[in-house]
Amino acid sequence: MQHGLTYFFYPMLSIAIAIEIYFSKGSRKQLYSWQESLISLGIFLVHHLAQILFMFVPSGMLFFAWQYRSYTVTMDDWWSIPFLFISIEFCYYWYHRTAHKVRWLWATHTVHHSSIYFNLSAAYRLGWTGWLSGNILFFMPLAWLGFHPIFIGIGLSLNLLYQFWIHTELIPKLGILEWVFNTPSHHRVHHAANHEYIDRNFGGVLIIFDRLFGTFAIEQPNQPIVYGLTHPLCSHNPFIIALSEWQRILRDIFTAKTWQDRFRAILGAPV
Ligand SMILES: [Zn+2]
Ligand SMILES: [Zn+2]
Repeated sequence: MQHGLTYFFYPMLSIAIAIEIYFSKGSRKQLYSWQESLISLGIFLVHHLAQILFMFVPSGMLFFAWQYRSYTVTMDDWWSIPFLFISIEFCYYWYHRTAHKVRWLWATHTVHHSSIYFNLSAAYRLGWTGWLSGNILFFMPLAWLGFHPIFIGIGLSLNLLYQFWIHTELIPKLGILEWVFNTPSHHRVHHAANHEYIDRNFGGVLIIFDRLFGTFAIEQPNQPIVYGLTHPLCSHNPFIIALSEWQRILRDIFTAKTWQDRFRAILGAPV
């Protein structure tokens, strides 16, 4: 559902990556690895293919919900775009928070956190199985509320597009913008694997829902961030990176002794 609009921005995104690589040369820390960036590109291409092949799943679900809408939001009213924006943000926050807490969703989202480098090229390291995890379930209430699925799709695309530029170590804290917006500093914290920071800052464009619901953490100058997964994958194979959590879920379902353990293998916290 999310990608139609982003096509137009790909050339700009590639230029931004080239600029980041250029400036990262002056950094004391290694910010790029060609190998990791190529893996991200490969993962992104398959993600893109999966989006096209399985587009019918999320769009079908949105159109299904829209049939039973309680109201019809026409986009001509002055409040409709701000209302759609804040509603998508709210749903995105809960989707993203759940994606970190429930294994069935983490199986898709883990891919985004798999790089040990935090740079623009890793921003599009996106999962292949969002349609299977049911990510769109979190956005169905918007269609049921009366937003047309096309507008929800556009809103999600823009939300994802915004998040591109926050995947960098080169941009420092941004003053008062840090209060309201999700910034590179906030998103660095989100990608941290250290226990001081883990599972924080789930917002998309805004950081206000993290502040409101108690998941906000600030980047500390004396607490360096370690990027990646708490259990690193040690593989350069995009298929293993993208699918290994599913494999582990299946293994845990088949080796489980009780139904409770099977249930936990699917909907419990990531292990
Ligand atoms: Zn995440
Ligand atoms: Zn990210």
